[in-house]
Amino acid sequence: MSFKEKVIVITGAGSGIGAATVRFFAKKEAYVVLADISLEKMVDISDSIPMECMIQKTDVSQYDQMQSLAGAVIKKYGQIDVWVNNAGIGPTQMLKTADHSLQDWERVIAVNQSGVFYGMKVALPAMLKQGSGNIVNVASLAGLKASGNNISYVASKFAVVGMTKAAALEYAKKNIRINAVCPGYTDTNMLRQLLEVKPEIEDKLKSHIPMGRFGKATEVATAIGWLASDQTQFMTGQTLSLDGGTSL
Ligand code: NAD
Repeated sequence: MSFKEKVIVITGAGSGIGAATVRFFAKKEAYVVLADISLEKMVDISDSIPMECMIQKTDVSQYDQMQSLAGAVIKKYGQIDVWVNNAGIGPTQMLKTADHSLQDWERVIAVNQSGVFYGMKVALPAMLKQGSGNIVNVASLAGLKASGNNISYVASKFAVVGMTKAAALEYAKKNIRINAVCPGYTDTNMLRQLLEVKPEIEDKLKSHIPMGRFGKATEVATAIGWLASDQTQFMTGQTLSLDGGTSL
């Protein structure tokens, strides 16, 4: 997989799967652009890798900030080869639908669903202009099958899968591929925050995973890289599950 001097934009780049994806592409000598709501986290990640990266504080739920991000990347590099819509959050409380708070609903949909739409909307004009491009959206196993007490997250991730397929169809003739990864439980801050509140569920969650362990952020990052690479040239609008067999 060669990404030498390709321009790769990664949202939610400050932690977990996003940070692992930054490291994956940095090792391949790409020009990596980190976008995250937390400047501090991005500085930590960029300090930990040998090459210089571009950093732009961005809230993916704010369309004007996403426009500024794409504009700044084009100004600096003149192209966008790969755009990874990875930023995502879960609800603050895991409650059944009747009790799910409106605040959680609005925030999760704004970040996970609108954020991915905005990412595609700002990246595609540059990709159309240059005649090529590759978008990888980070959905979830929760975007393929139901999970309880999580209505906003499930809705947002089913939407990511649907948007991936719809947009892939629209741009298939334009040399722009759009795919999604669907990780199962992956050992990142997002999962650790859940386990801090309910440590007793760790073994229960693992018991639902045939491989008996959580996924690693690096494993998801490698799959993102593969989808963005020339090795998957006839693949578009697809979901790739990384779940240790959970969906089986
Ligand atoms: P994480 O919490 O470790 O990282 C998420 C990053 O996104 C953080 O750096 C955070 O600052 C950033 N972020 C949050 N809101 C943002 C916003 N509005 N704008 C820009 N950046 C924002 O979580 P993670 O597990 O690495 O999650 C990455 C993606 O993977 C998410 O889309 C998540 O839904 C998905 N996912 C995670 C798991 C899992 O078990 N960890 C499973 C399936 C899918």
